[in-house]
Amino acid sequence: MNLTNRQNKIIDIVRGHQPITGSKIAEQMGYSKSTIRSDLSILTHTGRLSAKPKVGYVINTGFENTFYIDHQILHTKVGSVKSQAVCVKENDSLHDAIIEIFLHDAGTIFVVDENEYLCGVVSRKDFLKSILGNADIHSVPVSVIMSRMPNIVTTTDEETIMEAAKKIISHKIDSLPVVEEFDTFRYRITGRVSKTSVANLFVKLSKN
Ligand code: ADP
Repeated sequence: MNLTNRQNKIIDIVRGHQPITGSKIAEQMGYSKSTIRSDLSILTHTGRLSAKPKVGYVINTGFENTFYIDHQILHTKVGSVKSQAVCVKENDSLHDAIIEIFLHDAGTIFVVDENEYLCGVVSRKDFLKSILGNADIHSVPVSVIMSRMPNIVTTTDEETIMEAAKKIISHKIDSLPVVEEFDTFRYRITGRVSKTSVANLFVKLSKN
């Protein structure tokens, strides 16, 4: 629910002077108490303020915290939570790519072509499948087993973490490369967003 300017002003006054009576709030705003009565009623009924008998109005911190968390979840941009992407070249062998996974403790690695443009994604299960199929991990390049463009689901710095999380869920994948478009349909990787990025954000918000 959007608040009116008068209701926002009331919240500011309460935040700076709590606990404060309705008469004192009205006095500071230059209104009569009856003018702001309906505003105070809306603010207490929607949980923004608590009215303590014989003491006055105080901010309902529980509501503010919930509001803060909702706001952060809806508005935090991918660019501010992305982590470093682990990339290999399309001609690198499965063996070298698996080593990269261990070195960087990554679940998924991204594959780039000779111009550093995104061309594929390889997940842990892709590697397991190739090993079950007896692929020679020293000679087979990652390009043989990767999921490839244009079917790679991506995100950008400007997208919200909520939009990225929806893509992760709807495509049943663990992570997205964060990309910048350099040429038409040619993307460079600037980071990655994974289920862990979303979980980290939740933990950070609960600490705040
Ligand atoms: P895992 O297979 O280890 O459970 P994922 O669920 O992320 O990991 O991957 C499932 C499949 O989706 C794999 O074949 C992988 O190559 C592919 N994949 C992973 N991430 C993406 C992405 N961002 N876009 C398109 N395909 C992807």
